[in-house]
Amino acid sequence: MQSFTLAEHPHKRLNILTGEWILVSPHRTRRPWQGKVEKPEQDQLPAFDHSCYLCPGNKRADGSMNESYRGPYAFTNDFAALVPGTPQGETNIGGLLKATAEKGICRVISFSPRHDLTLPQLGIHDIRNVVDLWCDEFHSLAADPDIRYIQIFENKGAIMGHIHTDRSGLLRLFL
Ligand SMILES: [Zn+2]
Repeated sequence: MQSFTLAEHPHKRLNILTGEWILVSPHRTRRPWQGKVEKPEQDQLPAFDHSCYLCPGNKRADGSMNESYRGPYAFTNDFAALVPGTPQGETNIGGLLKATAEKGICRVISFSPRHDLTLPQLGIHDIRNVVDLWCDEFHSLAADPDIRYIQIFENKGAIMGHIHTDRSGLLRLFL
């Protein structure tokens, strides 16, 4: 296995001023960047976008194909902040730079096959399906004894690295 390096592997790093440990994901700089967009979101997005990594049946950033999904859809993040195979390791440079390797899994949930809908625009039945999938993902991953913490959050907007502009839930799981 590769040995741990600060420039390559996810790790937690101590902020020596506050005493907080901060997650650092240096490998994420390799993910594709489709351009910063600062203007207000368009009113009229298409229901399906051929160039979107998350739309049903499209090719994702890592070259794999999305299923032609009809409801909420879960998959492992192609450019995850944490990955399971991170080698163990520590760095301590004079007590000023302290870091420890960190492993984890990041799962993505696309809320809907529709490119143009946000969560509050979905019907109650479709929102219920999203919540059920959150629960399924949580339970299946929580069954792994190595996973000690699970965070579910919504990651909105292309600037956050999600091209399906408002429709991604993401599970971040720490081993
Ligand atoms: Zn899309």
